[in-house]
Amino acid sequence: MAKKCIICNEQEAVYKIKDTFDYYCVECAEENFADLTILVKVEEEAQRLKEYLEKKKMNGEVDENDDIQGD
Ligand SMILES: [Zn+2]
Repeated sequence: MAKKCIICNEQEAVYKIKDTFDYYCVECAEENFADLTILVKVEEEAQRLKEYLEKKKMNGEVDENDDIQGD
């Protein structure tokens, strides 16, 4: 379920602006942003989120299945 670039709406988005839902393919990102450092890679962002959630799970902060298995 890859995100599409919001500009050309054709290519698969590789970059997104941090904390937004603006997704861009490489070409459009380079065309529209002189400074690509404001963009994050969609992959890396997804990976970071996954790691964050896994860490929380390990710390018992997330009750994913909400299992009650005694005390
Ligand atoms: Zn594009």
